[in-house]
Amino acid sequence: MAYPDYHTHTSRCGHAIGDPIEYVEAALAMGLPGIGIADHIPLLPEPDSEISMGICELVDYVAEVAALKARFPGYVLLGVEADYRPGTLSEVKDLLASHPFDYAIGSVHHLGSWGIDDERQIEEYARRDIDDVYLEYFELVGDAAESGAFTIIGHLDLAKKFGFRPSRSLAVEMENLVGRIARSRVLVEINTAGLRKPVAEAYPSIGLLGLLREYRVPITFGSDAHKPQEVGADFDHAAALASAAGYAEYATLAETGGAPRAKVVLRPLDTATGLSGPAGLSRLGGRSGPDEEAGPSHPRETGR
Ligand code: FE
Ligand code: ZN
Ligand code: FE
Ligand code: ZN
Repeated sequence: MAYPDYHTHTSRCGHAIGDPIEYVEAALAMGLPGIGIADHIPLLPEPDSEISMGICELVDYVAEVAALKARFPGYVLLGVEADYRPGTLSEVKDLLASHPFDYAIGSVHHLGSWGIDDERQIEEYARRDIDDVYLEYFELVGDAAESGAFTIIGHLDLAKKFGFRPSRSLAVEMENLVGRIARSRVLVEINTAGLRKPVAEAYPSIGLLGLLREYRVPITFGSDAHKPQEVGADFDHAAALASAAGYAEYATLAETGGAPRAKVVLRPLDTATGLSGPAGLSRLGGRSGPDEEAGPSHPRETGR
């Protein structure tokens, strides 16, 4: 069973490879029922050409994906991954409103000026209290959900990317976060990129997913592909996680040209696929082997 992939990047962001058409072709070749292109919109307030497209590229990006929407009607959606940073929210909302995005993924990548998933800045973890990193991260993700700017919340527990773990249970804080998300009526993605990172686990964790299910938060699937070969990666594993968390349905987005409130259609998960075979329950805690590290074709690993 295949699911639409709503989290894919393109070469425009400076750390991925491939044009949008190559991602669409990869999705078609895999038999996915749809694909959303969701590249990084310009990082504000200071654009960084290694982690997002430039302001002047945004118009071309929108036009290029719009042309693919016209060529593959009902199959391709125009999305975007936007950074949630407290000081730039109104500018981001303006950017989102000035183009016909079908949906917007809202992601937290920064605590203040620190890019927590940026390998260029990994040494900062040694200077921080890891519990505080998680708490600050969850706080910002909750703020992102409540901002009303986004359709889907991206990689909910990105703070675990490099394998730094909190020293105590954050169950109370996690439930608080999930409550905020549920009240905000945003979707949450199961993002399989974490399987390709040191943590070797999808975002969010099975514990968070169980809470999301309890609070009836719909989920989408995203590979966070930064090269066309990663489209739809590990979606069997993602589906296994979803059903293990109690989900029977996942969310698909219908074209509306109106982020953040895309039209959501729930469809049944194929649980038979999700729970059988070696990709099933035994791997729910994440991958153990270092089998598929980022290949040499990835031009620059900034890690977003
Ligand atoms: Fe991404
Ligand atoms: Zn990226
Ligand atoms: Fe991201
Ligand atoms: Zn991302």
